Amino acid sequence: MSALAAEPTVGSPMSSVRSGARSGPRLEIDLAAVAANTRLLADRAAGELMAVVKADGFGHGTVDVARTALAHGASSLGVTSIEEALALRCAGLQEPILSWLNPVDADFASALGADVDLAVPTALHLQAVAAAAARTRRTARVHLHLDTGMARDGSSPDAWSALCARARRAERAGLVSVVGVMGHLGCAEVAGDPRTDAGLRTFRWGLEVAHATGLRPSLRHLAATAATLTEPRTHLDLCRVGAGLVGIDPSGTTPLRGALTLTAPVVSVRRVAAGTGVGYGHTHVTDRPTRLVLLPLGYADGLPRATSGRAEVLLRGRRRPIVGRVSMDQIVVDVGDDRVAIGETAVVLGPGDRGEPTATEWAAWADTIPHEIVTGIGPRVGRVVSATSSLHHQLRSL
Ligand SMILES: *Cc1c(COP(=O)(O)O)cnc(C)c1O
Repeated sequence: MSALAAEPTVGSPMSSVRSGARSGPRLEIDLAAVAANTRLLADRAAGELMAVVKADGFGHGTVDVARTALAHGASSLGVTSIEEALALRCAGLQEPILSWLNPVDADFASALGADVDLAVPTALHLQAVAAAAARTRRTARVHLHLDTGMARDGSSPDAWSALCARARRAERAGLVSVVGVMGHLGCAEVAGDPRTDAGLRTFRWGLEVAHATGLRPSLRHLAATAATLTEPRTHLDLCRVGAGLVGIDPSGTTPLRGALTLTAPVVSVRRVAAGTGVGYGHTHVTDRPTRLVLLPLGYADGLPRATSGRAEVLLRGRRRPIVGRVSMDQIVVDVGDDRVAIGETAVVLGPGDRGEPTATEWAAWADTIPHEIVTGIGPRVGRVVSATSSLHHQLRSL
C-alpha cells in the first residue's frame, strides 16, 4: 500500500454538492429533475395530475417530491396509507390528498380530521368510513375503487352495484360524499394492449352503474404513469403518477430524467496478483495482476446481491466491474492498472449522462424494475438534496 500513497487524488465528480454530515455513501436527490418530469407529465395529462408520493416518494423523500410536484403542475397528492397522508399534513401541505390502501380497522377518524380523501374498495370499508364520519361529525370524501382487471385492490365488478347503492345511502345520510371513482390498469406499458381496452370498458360500465345509482363523482381516474404516457383515452379527469415524477418511464417512450445519484468513496485500494479470490465464496478469481478498490456499501444499502458478477460503477470516468459477491456492507471494484486513490468518488447510480449506470441498468442486472431499485436505497445512506433544488425549496418556504 505504501506505493499507492504518492498517487494523485482526482477531484470528486460530486464536489459541487453540499457536503453532508456523513462521509460515506451518499444519495443526491435532484428536485429539479422531479420538477421537469412533473411539468412534462402535467402537460401530457388531459385533466389534472395527482402526484403519487407513496413509499417515501419512491425513495426520493415524500415531502420534497410532494412540494416539488405541487409547484410544477400537480394539484393533489396520492399515497397508500393514512399514516403517509397524515405525515404530509404534518409537514404543512394543504392540497387534496387521497389514501387508497387501508385495512378495515385503519384510523379513518384521523384521516377525516385531516381532510384526507379515502378510497373505498369494499362494503366493510364503507361501513368503517361511514362510522368514523358519524363519530367525528364529518362528511367523508370517498373515491369508490373498482377493480378494472388486476384482481388486486378495488371492488370486484360483482360487488360493484351493491357498493354503489350503499355509498349512495351513506351519501343521503350525510356521512360520505362520493367525489371520485378510481380504477387501475395492469398492462398499459404498451399502447393499444387489449387488456387496457377491457379495463377501460369495465371502468366505463362502473361509471354508468354509479351514475344510475345517483352518484355524481367529479373525479374519474384510471391512469398511472404508463397510461398517462401511452393511452390518452384513459386520462379522464385525473392521472395518478408516481414513477414518472422520479424519472421512471415504464413504457420506454418518453425521455424522463432520473433524480437520484448514489456515490461512494473509495475506502481502500490494493494491488493483487493473478489468481486472487475475491469476496465470499471466491465467486471471482482475478485472471491477471490488478488493482481492487473497496466501496463501503452493499445489499443493506440497496445494491441487490443478485447483481453479483454483472454490475458496474463509474470511477474516473470509466465503467468498472464489481467483482465477487455483493456483501451486506461492501463491494469490490476491479480498476485494472488505473492508479485510483483512496478518497476518490465512485458513481454507483445516476441519471446516466456522465456514463454512470442508471436505475434501469441496475434493475436489469437484478432482473427487476427500476421502481424496486429506487425504493430500496437503505436508511444509512446519507441523503443530500441537490444545491439548486434545495435553494429553490428554501425560496418556496420563505
Ligand atoms: C402506485 C400507484 C400509482 C402510481 O403508479 P405509477 O406507475 O408509479 O405512476 C397509481 N395508482 C395506484 C393505485 C397505485 O398503487
